[in-house]
Amino acid sequence: MDISQRDHSADSLLVSEIFSSVQGEGINTGRPATFLRLAVCNLHCWYCDTKYTWLFNEQMLAQVQNEMKRIGINDTRPDLRVYDKNEEAKELSISDVLKQILAFDCPHLVITGGEPLLQQDSLCALLEGLMRERRFFVELETNGTIKPRKEILDIVSQWNVSPKLAFAGNGSYASEKPECFETFKKLNAYFKFVIQSEKDLKDCEEIVQKYSIPKNKVVLMPEAINSRLLEERGRMLSSYCKDKGYKFSTRLQILLYGNARGK
Ligand code: SF4
Repeated sequence: MDISQRDHSADSLLVSEIFSSVQGEGINTGRPATFLRLAVCNLHCWYCDTKYTWLFNEQMLAQVQNEMKRIGINDTRPDLRVYDKNEEAKELSISDVLKQILAFDCPHLVITGGEPLLQQDSLCALLEGLMRERRFFVELETNGTIKPRKEILDIVSQWNVSPKLAFAGNGSYASEKPECFETFKKLNAYFKFVIQSEKDLKDCEEIVQKYSIPKNKVVLMPEAINSRLLEERGRMLSSYCKDKGYKFSTRLQILLYGNARGK
């Protein structure tokens, strides 16, 4: 997708869902939060658990399936299908989104996606509006391929950057942007890697070394769509984290709700 293309107006956001839950991943796991999930992503990871935010046509589906073939992934999970964009991505005015977030009356906001920085102009306007109403702790989840604008840097309290490894199937041309790593490294950012196998650990190490990411900023999390896989891979990964001095993250939402949406 050409990320310069807008498919919504400057005073609106393309929203997938807004809900209240507890943070399920990363260093704030367990903290109550309001979640703003924005639609559309510039990457197309085959294991993405929010495909309903971006997989909107047959061409995209074929692209993902071709990538899976190329990297030798044989996985038939049922969420790999085309979603209806009109149903899944609602264009909401900034004032509407602001009202919905304030209604949850929670000082912790998690902005996720899709890739939220695709909509950072509108997001800046929303966050400025929110901060005028009350102070929020804002966590923003990003795939780390889009540089944040200066205006948003002052508002976001914590960046959860999730670089995509080779097994995600995007090709390094799309998912590794050195200038973005350098930018995020200077911020309050944690680098959260999704790990499925030993090979992914090797790829992760390469990135950690290449960009000199401090150990206490590295978070490893198992790729899993059910609690059995989460446990199996979690055991292997937590032991690895212990040896390396990294943080381990589970996926609380999988343990509590399976793969259900809006939880
Ligand atoms: S970058 Fe994140 S939201 Fe985008 S496809 Fe990959 S896992 Fe899904």
